[in-house]
Amino acid sequence: MNVESRKKALRYLFQKVIDPLGYKFSPDEELVDFLLEQEVVLEKKHGIPFCPCQGLTRKREDNMKIVCPCIPFHREHFDAIKRCWCGLYVHKDVTNPDELRQIPFSEIKRG
Ligand code: SF4
Repeated sequence: MNVESRKKALRYLFQKVIDPLGYKFSPDEELVDFLLEQEVVLEKKHGIPFCPCQGLTRKREDNMKIVCPCIPFHREHFDAIKRCWCGLYVHKDVTNPDELRQIPFSEIKRG
């Protein structure tokens, strides 16, 4: 499967996962296209569409928490900032992702 077809397939599959979680793809189409392409590259290399904005570690258990869409593993953080780390997904009510602030989880926990 070529890159464009795989990007389309991932988009279709991911949509089914994120929708019931209250998320959608970012309205920033250029960003979405870029990130999906990176995921296709990672999938070709590792067999799994890992997160394009997080580094892999030597621990499989940790790496499995950054398989896209990783929302269920980091829900508390993402719900608080209304986006995932990469910005591939945003809360359904977000219209301008540029207005969202990236707040570290430690700050949110401190309240
Ligand atoms: S941060 Fe976003 S793009 Fe990265 S794996 Fe998680 S959901 Fe996917």
